[in-house]
Amino acid sequence: MEKLKRIEDIQINPEVIGEAGMENDVLALPEALDEVFRNKDLRVKEPFAIHYVVQREKDSQDVHVSVDVSGEIETFCVRCLETMTHSVDLHLETDYMPASPEMSKNLEEERVSSETGYYRKSIRLGDYIASELVLALPLRFICDERCKGLCPGCGANLNKEECRCEKKPVDPRLHALAELKEKIRKE
Ligand SMILES: [Zn+2]
Ligand SMILES: [Zn+2]
Repeated sequence: MEKLKRIEDIQINPEVIGEAGMENDVLALPEALDEVFRNKDLRVKEPFAIHYVVQREKDSQDVHVSVDVSGEIETFCVRCLETMTHSVDLHLETDYMPASPEMSKNLEEERVSSETGYYRKSIRLGDYIASELVLALPLRFICDERCKGLCPGCGANLNKEECRCEKKPVDPRLHALAELKEKIRKE
């Protein structure tokens, strides 16, 4: 299976799409995903699997593409700060139409919706996948909806341990006094 160092390398020449369409599986290497996410808090250890199916509409220049992307991102929970794994399981459907001459060079910017894109010589599917991957990321990573987070007082991870704020700290002087009283009582 083809291993890609850059996700934008996923490009399709529309002229080679036959009647039956085409199908492909590629792997996007961790470095390709780092380039997409550009966030040092998001780590990708294993390649992402990308499967795409391309079909040309009959007697038309329009091309339909469906894409499935799956992989895992390692990051940390914003509530409890524990390491967590975020699974990516993205299904995308989009149509591509021939671009008109007045459209800019960056056809990904010409998209009016995630469902309709444009192409010139090649269909730049990788650019689309990259932007959809970023859009699909949650704003905040949370390990579990029920995550109780850290106690702002004592910093205890409330998923794992009890808050220590309740228990008043033992004053060592009181402890010494108690020992002294005990000694006097015995004498
Ligand atoms: Zn958490
Ligand atoms: Zn506490």
